[in-house]
Amino acid sequence: MKLFSFLQNDKPGIGVDTGDDLFNLTRAFDIYQKAQGSRQPVQVVFLQMLVEMGYCSGHTVTHILSNSWVQAKLDSIRMEPGFSWELPIARPANIICLGRNYEGHIRELSDRRPEEPLFFAKSPAALAAHKQDIVIPAWLDTRVDHEAELAVVIGRTAKQVSEETAMEHVAGYTIVNDVTARTMQQEDIAAGNPWYRSKSLDTFCPMGPYIVPADTVNDPGNLAITLTVNGETRQQARTSELIFSIPKIISYISAYLTLQPGDIISTGTPEGISEISDGDLIEISIQGLGTLTNRVRKER
Ligand code: MG
Repeated sequence: MKLFSFLQNDKPGIGVDTGDDLFNLTRAFDIYQKAQGSRQPVQVVFLQMLVEMGYCSGHTVTHILSNSWVQAKLDSIRMEPGFSWELPIARPANIICLGRNYEGHIRELSDRRPEEPLFFAKSPAALAAHKQDIVIPAWLDTRVDHEAELAVVIGRTAKQVSEETAMEHVAGYTIVNDVTARTMQQEDIAAGNPWYRSKSLDTFCPMGPYIVPADTVNDPGNLAITLTVNGETRQQARTSELIFSIPKIISYISAYLTLQPGDIISTGTPEGISEISDGDLIEISIQGLGTLTNRVRKER
């Protein structure tokens, strides 16, 4: 089961891909609440709201869709074609990324393996939806790279949580392309400066297309990741190769800052990073999470 945000006839909504069909979950939830006797149903039009309500789970969505009132109106909630893909979470308070979390990627950077998880921020202002262009500014003439990554969507506030309980704070999973202005990043590191700007240019954080609820993902620690540029495979790995596991990462970060519902943690990229340029089509697939597609456009 995959959840997504969409815009249709200027109206936002949440969609659900059941594998067989696409349904408008916003409408289904409205019908469900009326079936429960609610006179003023809450309009849940953004996935962020669903996450904050604690309803971003396969169990809850299945419960709503199997309600007899909803089943009776199934035809009226089936999605029509012609919607646009929106960001699954439009305004996360935090996008936190892991650096150097795959051995192969550390080798290709000729870098050292960190002793502890190495994390940094990427600006939420950099987000781009599925099928939106990655725009390289006209003034930027140095190397820009793709980085395919599995991302965790936080579902419940996490402050100083243990590894044992960390997964209880996960709402689901999505795909992030941690696009990086590589030369700028290397120059900033060499100068002893933060590398925030090289990670945070507008549109340098494609994310989506779906959130797949955590209770429907068997083992997030063992998923296949593939990235292609114009159909040619550049990155191919499994999340079982992560140096620091998802529970370890959540526990570690939550010792420093409180994670909020809707926060995104991107778990790091495997080896195979390469330069992207004008016109390239970047497709990232993660097992069970769908395919995130973005074209690169160089501003003139
Ligand atoms: Mg990265």
